[in-house]
Amino acid sequence: MSKQQGQSEADRVLVVGGGIAGLAMAICMLRQGRSVEVVERAETWRPLGAGIVLQCNATAVLRLLGVEGAIKKRGRLLEDGDFAEQSGRSLSQLTLRVMTEKFGPSYGIHRALLHESLLEACEGADIHMGETVTSIEQQGERAQVTFSSGRSGEYDLVIGADGLHSKVRELIWPEAPKEPTYAGYVCWRFICENVIQRNHMTEMVGRGRRFGLVPIGDNKLYCFTTLSAPADYGADNKDPLGLLRELFKDFGGDVPAVLASLTEETPILWHPLADIDQPYWYRGRVVLIGDACHAMTPNMGQGAAQALEDVGILGSLLHQGGSIEEVLQKYRKVRETRVKTFMKKSRQFGKINQWSSPFAASFRNLLLRMTPTSVIEKQSTELIAGFSLVQSPSPLF
Ligand SMILES: Cc1cc2nc3c(=O)[nH]c(=O)nc-3n(C[C@H](O)[C@H](O)[C@H](O)COP(=O)(O)OP(=O)(O)OC[C@H]3O[C@@H](n4cnc5c(N)ncnc54)[C@H](O)[C@@H]3O)c2cc1C
Repeated sequence: MSKQQGQSEADRVLVVGGGIAGLAMAICMLRQGRSVEVVERAETWRPLGAGIVLQCNATAVLRLLGVEGAIKKRGRLLEDGDFAEQSGRSLSQLTLRVMTEKFGPSYGIHRALLHESLLEACEGADIHMGETVTSIEQQGERAQVTFSSGRSGEYDLVIGADGLHSKVRELIWPEAPKEPTYAGYVCWRFICENVIQRNHMTEMVGRGRRFGLVPIGDNKLYCFTTLSAPADYGADNKDPLGLLRELFKDFGGDVPAVLASLTEETPILWHPLADIDQPYWYRGRVVLIGDACHAMTPNMGQGAAQALEDVGILGSLLHQGGSIEEVLQKYRKVRETRVKTFMKKSRQFGKINQWSSPFAASFRNLLLRMTPTSVIEKQSTELIAGFSLVQSPSPLF
């Protein structure tokens, strides 16, 4: 396929990183008829062991890329949820039904299946595994790139989609802080059988710790847990299951049944949670998308959704035409304020939901109990509506 008429002049595109943002961008570039290379640092695609919530703005972009069908088949439609106290008593309801009606569905899905769905749609992309970029030199309208394998190439556009510890960001913005900002809490995630036949999402908020349960496809349950602690707490723990059982022994609701159902073989992923204070957008012919640009804490479940919004906006601007400089300028203009809003809110929610003093935690729970569902619904709807492609979908290719 050759580049369609009227589109921006970027015939040769390099995407660095084959995660959610990188693969989604590669699909978009391929469908626009551009020559796309993807370099992924991992030697092979590793099975990604946790789940993810794809809110309706994320799904909207996947729909435009032609991937929603695969997600629908492999994931689970999410319609209802709630916040609950650690005993399991519900504090406030979260219904996604209004958003589903307005903007389309949200799904809970195993990350490995999301990745598989994106990879399937990438057929035809030139993907180099076990490779990264070692230098990027910009000369006029081209970027000259060298790779860890020793080869080199020249590109019209380099898209850095290489996540939180982005090498592209480091090469282009040497002044950027080397380390992201630690949020003050660590997280464990796992997937298990949906032994409790749960069909709605719940986030249970305790004192300095949280336990989240999300039904995903294939009758599985995705769980996430957090604990306010130093950034290396739990990093070397050889018995994460034992640790989780100890940390959450006072939690009620479905937590005891879920923890009892796990075995030593259940993969449990551990992370310190962090974000990037200041997004870096583009310089010359190099642009960042997704976590490489604006990693945020996961408290709003919007990191991947914002990465996909980047893909939708950058993809549609490249499709509409204009010089690359104009496209990248507009991309930053459209995305910057919105991304900062999500980063800020996510950080605030995280702080409040991790409150650990008994007084502060009771106060937060009281606030949650007093907040009507209609208010939460209105605020969420307004936030999602700020993404133009969810309001008026336009073709990306
Ligand atoms: C605990 C937790 C829960 C979350 N839950 C949700 C949720 O429910 N919903 C949601 O929308 N978001 C969620 N997020 C956020 C979401 O996971 C990220 O925003 C999303 O994965 C970002 O995608 P990405 O492609 O930008 O980066 P990544 O997923 O990090 O992908 C980057 C890719 O680049 C590769 N790479 C890295 N360095 C290099 C290099 N130097 N050269 C080449 N390749 C490289 C990596 O191997 C990887 O494949 C969550 C995050 C966390 C930590």
